[in-house]
Amino acid sequence: MSKITSDNSEKMLAVTVNGGARSVQVRKPSAGTGEVVIRVERVGICGTDWAMLNGYSDFRGIIGHEFAGIVIESESAIIAGTRVTASINIPKDIDSALDWKKAKHDPDRTAMGIRGRDGAMAEFVALPENILHKLPDNVDYASGAMAEPLAAALHAVELIPSDADETLIVGDGRLAQLVARGLRYQGIPAAVLGKSLKKMGMMRKSGARIIEDDHAKNGDLFQYIIEASGDEKGIQTAIDLVRPEGTVILKSTMAQLNEIDLSKVVVKEVKLIGSRCGDIAKALRFINSGEIEVNDLISAVYPLKQAARAFEAMKNPDTIKIQLSPHGN
Ligand SMILES: [Zn+2]
Repeated sequence: MSKITSDNSEKMLAVTVNGGARSVQVRKPSAGTGEVVIRVERVGICGTDWAMLNGYSDFRGIIGHEFAGIVIESESAIIAGTRVTASINIPKDIDSALDWKKAKHDPDRTAMGIRGRDGAMAEFVALPENILHKLPDNVDYASGAMAEPLAAALHAVELIPSDADETLIVGDGRLAQLVARGLRYQGIPAAVLGKSLKKMGMMRKSGARIIEDDHAKNGDLFQYIIEASGDEKGIQTAIDLVRPEGTVILKSTMAQLNEIDLSKVVVKEVKLIGSRCGDIAKALRFINSGEIEVNDLISAVYPLKQAARAFEAMKNPDTIKIQLSPHGN
């Protein structure tokens, strides 16, 4: 465990929507009632962060919701020195915070780094202790910061029956890779339609069958498709490739949708299911037990002060997950 330092300076580095894809000086947070201050050790950049910098929401604060760190200030049961990550959604009734299904649909919720509350792409973050999850012993900061995206991936996998036929994953990025691992764990055969040879190679290692774009267009249709491509074309591809009365699970949040032809959804009587956040405690158990590996998906780690370079690296089509390290750990 790293040494706890108390930093009394008023300012810290953070990435904010207003500041754009770079780190800027902001006020260091202090703990409100029922809150702890966490020194952020790793924070991942996800598609939602990217979308927010490109106008996906009205949120203007510090972004970042995939993180792990160490509690440095606490008056509560979660004591200083505890290594933690956290759920994203904070319901109005804070006592129900760990009921993650309820929390994510609370109309009055805030969401770390997304809605009404600063996120963790910063040196420090103040959060309610009720949303914290202690990192199990075998979970380091890097993999702890992967618990949130893994939870989101597992939530999509849970929507597919365990005796399903080969399920198509559209996309080969961060979330798609985690979905492939979740499907393999559940014993559901997977096929994948992606773009990057390197990422597809990783998908193959996770047991997924690689299909070519042209082949897919002429080939079999799929009863279940998980769309995790992060782009509009991926949604159309999923609608094109699903069987009549089949199901498409949508994982991508996008700044805008222009031309999706929904007539096929009607004609084929397709079910479209949106899927967002999952159970972080469950994801941490999978990471801790080694049943699902996540660290090999981290393509690069940058210091927080080099956030601009980190966001630039996101544009490389071979990049999977980029993390920022605010304190060099
Ligand atoms: Zn995310």
